[in-house]
Amino acid sequence: MTGLRRLRIAGGTLYDPATGVDGEARDVCIEDGRIVANVPADAPTLDARGMVVMAGGVDMHAHIAGSAVNQARRLLAEEHSADPAPAPALDHVDDSEPLARSGTGGTLPTTFTTGYRYAGLGYTTVFDAAVAPLLARSTHAELDDTPIVDAGAFILMGNDEYLFRLIDAGERERARDYAAWVLGAAGGYAIKVVNPGGVERWKSGGRNVTGLDDPVGSSRVTPRAILETLADAANALALPHAAHVHCNNLGIPGNVRTTLETMRAVAGRRCHFTHLQFHSYGGEVGGAWRSAAREVAEYVNAHPEVSADVGQVMFGPATTLTADAPVEYLLHKSSGRRWTNVDVELETGCGIVPYSYKERAAVAALQWAVGLELFLLAADPWRMVLSTDHPNGGSFRSYPELIRLLMDRAYRDEQLKRANPKLLAGSTLAEGMAREYTLNEIAIVTRAGPARLLGLTSKGHLGVGADADVTVYAPAENVAEMFATPRFVVKGGTLVVEEGELRRAPSGRRLHVRPAYDGGVERDIERFFDAYATVSFENYPVRGLRDDPVPVGAPGGLADAYGQGRREGHAARPASGSPALDAGRGAPPHRESIGDPGADRQRDIAAQSESSGDAAPGRG
Ligand SMILES: [Zn+2]
Repeated sequence: MTGLRRLRIAGGTLYDPATGVDGEARDVCIEDGRIVANVPADAPTLDARGMVVMAGGVDMHAHIAGSAVNQARRLLAEEHSADPAPAPALDHVDDSEPLARSGTGGTLPTTFTTGYRYAGLGYTTVFDAAVAPLLARSTHAELDDTPIVDAGAFILMGNDEYLFRLIDAGERERARDYAAWVLGAAGGYAIKVVNPGGVERWKSGGRNVTGLDDPVGSSRVTPRAILETLADAANALALPHAAHVHCNNLGIPGNVRTTLETMRAVAGRRCHFTHLQFHSYGGEVGGAWRSAAREVAEYVNAHPEVSADVGQVMFGPATTLTADAPVEYLLHKSSGRRWTNVDVELETGCGIVPYSYKERAAVAALQWAVGLELFLLAADPWRMVLSTDHPNGGSFRSYPELIRLLMDRAYRDEQLKRANPKLLAGSTLAEGMAREYTLNEIAIVTRAGPARLLGLTSKGHLGVGADADVTVYAPAENVAEMFATPRFVVKGGTLVVEEGELRRAPSGRRLHVRPAYDGGVERDIERFFDAYATVSFENYPVRGLRDDPVPVGAPGGLADAYGQGRREGHAARPASGSPALDAGRGAPPHRESIGDPGADRQRDIAAQSESSGDAAPGRG
């Protein structure tokens, strides 16, 4: 059954919300890696009668590759021996495929095991949600070693020194060009904003920001200005995905005020708010926490330009891992657990604390309830999609259990009784929520919704022309079992899971964008590199990505309604001085003001990279 050009998946019950099919018996036909309307009668057939058929799962927010993930693996030695992952017995290996590899599991599996385990759950597309551009190279190297899944990376920009200088100088157009350049240079897919301004301020020896108007080195550089600049950049560049925002004040009681203020700050703009559960707490610092899921869900429900993923907390082991280094410092101090902190020069930070959510712990129980409330109060599941912020709220391997919590009220209420009730007064969940997700809604929050929010027009559905990523589940009394062990998984037309066993492990594709920008920005970036960076400008961009970029400005999802149109080519703009170097952002020692390095030190990198035919990130 492997390596077939054509395949008919016959008679399964199809849940394909993007095409309006809700539980109908349909054949799914595949030819050359794509869904087609029909295949000849003598094409190989997979009998799916009595089974549930959906598109392959799409995880829009996880941490699976790169420097921070590797730091965490190093910190978690005990997980390696606790969860060995022997090499799978693949059917057939030829030279075009990676060999079957052993590895280890735990909350941060090794690269190969990550690919195998995602595919084993019926997931075929995954995004790493936090990659520092300086360290993008290691992320891509690891994604190359993560088989089966198509993968991409969101690029951290919310604490970027060069961007701050542009904002300080009032150069928002240039900031957009810079964001486009960084995406191309890092091989990224979307703009990621983590605790805008807060990480940089904390790193510089100050304190984390507390509100949207706190100055970050300059009164003109504030979380609000950073958010506006990057949300506008994503929309003006017509990126397939909106700016992906992790708000200030993650994990702090009373942070709902910041979260709602952040949403209002970018009102009317397409914007994605990630792991909203960690940002939906009422109460006061130093006082009691409470759920504020209702306020947040009501705002999201009323604003179609806003989308979110939940970041559900699951009881059990987790690893908290984020560019929001000050949050991890607090967690390390309050929990006494070991930690790692990493500075990424000029760009961002990183902190890691291994963790465990215990149902008898009051805060963990509150977090668990807040996440479920966000799911169950969401009026539009297309805009409130499933994530655990793997491995922050729990491993991606807990998704089947999360699906059961959403679909089975009796089971959910039973779990609720075991959770610590101390902080659950006033919680909508504790008051009783009858909603049970349908299979169609599960298909929305696990594949159709994330694919649409990511602007991936050929993913998340089984319409003609879609990628042939298909998952076939055998119904079971316990839906967690059904979703944990799909009977068949097809990735890009290849049958990778057969009768519940992983059989093939083809390489996945790299999903990245290369938006157009004014090439004039590069000269100034190079001068900044010469003055401050330990890496030379020429060595910074990643090279040799294995696939062509995803077109920018492609139709799809909210991009159509809220994007500001496609930008074509480079606008000619007269050369000016160096807004970043001239901005007078002079205070801390690492940014003492310097003079103009002079025209003789400038080289036209744009022309250079064009002639080399490689890494010309603006030429998409
Ligand atoms: Zn995350």
